[in-house]
Amino acid sequence: MQYYSLNNNAPKVSFSEAVIKGLAPDRGLYFPENITPLPKSFFENIESLDNIEIAYQAIQQFVGEEIPETELRDILSDVLSFDFPVVEIENTIGTLELFHGPTMAFKDVGARFMARCLGYFNRNNKNQVTVLVATSGDTGGAVANGFLGVKGVDVVILYPTGKVSDIQEKQLTTLGQNIIALEVDGVFDDCQDMVKTAFLDTSITNHKQLTSANSINVARWLPQLLYFLFAYKQVKHKNKDIIFSVPSGNFGNICAGIVAYKLGLPVKHFVASTNSNDTVVRYLETNEYTPKPSIATISNAMDVGNPSNFIRIQKLFNDSFTTLKNNFSAYSFNDQQTKEAMKTIHDQSGYIADPHGSIGYLGLKKHKLGTNDYGIFLETAHPVKFLDVVEETLDTTITIPPQIQKVMDKEKKSILIKNYKSLKEFLLR
Ligand SMILES: *Cc1c(COP(=O)(O)O)cnc(C)c1O
Repeated sequence: MQYYSLNNNAPKVSFSEAVIKGLAPDRGLYFPENITPLPKSFFENIESLDNIEIAYQAIQQFVGEEIPETELRDILSDVLSFDFPVVEIENTIGTLELFHGPTMAFKDVGARFMARCLGYFNRNNKNQVTVLVATSGDTGGAVANGFLGVKGVDVVILYPTGKVSDIQEKQLTTLGQNIIALEVDGVFDDCQDMVKTAFLDTSITNHKQLTSANSINVARWLPQLLYFLFAYKQVKHKNKDIIFSVPSGNFGNICAGIVAYKLGLPVKHFVASTNSNDTVVRYLETNEYTPKPSIATISNAMDVGNPSNFIRIQKLFNDSFTTLKNNFSAYSFNDQQTKEAMKTIHDQSGYIADPHGSIGYLGLKKHKLGTNDYGIFLETAHPVKFLDVVEETLDTTITIPPQIQKVMDKEKKSILIKNYKSLKEFLLR
């Protein structure tokens, strides 16, 4: 499989090169040259396949020959060693829980897959890389955890000071070893801009192979398509039309869902549910893409003003505004609405949803389900990761799971940086 740059001004590359580089030299995102649908029989028999088999069949074409079958299967069974249950909370609404991994956020799968691929590519110590990543919340923890101790990889994480939850901060600042956290005086977009600038700065890249572990990296982004297949496997017997609502920030997760659709997964419609960062919602209303600086919200992992992956979504719908609108809707909800949804869900079903998942729920409600529809919203983080908001809104207490408590007890270590210059100095130290 070859990948090309969506800016169309860079050479095509293999999977390993796309993973090692992260972003193409022309600043474009890498995109698979073609997507071959899976055979009908795959979807007909999906209930009889285990998750590793599903994953192998779905992801193999994107990896190509560069990782042999046995290694790729090993990587997948390592990465997917936990559950992805669909929990029904209303007659025709289920939540796909993606938080059963080590950092209790859905990004664990992408981060672990990417880490193990890089580990494989560096097995002969030939591809020493520095992973440079900006986080608005959960990426940092998942990446730190996924890459901890991976040979030949140094990880540098930038996060906006004061804008991530206590637990999120601890998850990315307490591991040590090959993981370093830089605390940036700014918002997430500042972090993301600095990362993008560093990738293009030859005075850095001549000395260091930098790569990104944001969902711009194909190895972080693509494995997320598996969630949608795992969900389908669980609800297929209902014989309903499936509508997915995906709490979206950088739009990587929902974009991967659309790749699953391109592979042949029967999905009636995709709903992107956002917080007040509503760039895509406004785009669908006006056909004009006008990003805005990000706004801080209680669903901070989605505080993204200029979602990187939206361009991939447009490509998946053949750059047609009409096709996009026929298959894809987007709705935005503010913090007040988010808290009300958390209460409604809790009152009606006893289920505790985190702020991100609650926005996914709101998206389904706003879209309105038809009589033969089944709505699935993705629950992207465990509510404990947003402890203060959840406890206060629901007037309840949540038991802290042991893997989180362990991290909370550790000491934070970070380096404060003010601007790009200090990042550069740090990288060239
Ligand atoms: C990252 C994240 C999101 C947004 O996912 P994107 O792929 O960036 O759209 C939603 N919820 C949580 C909890 C996250 O960590």
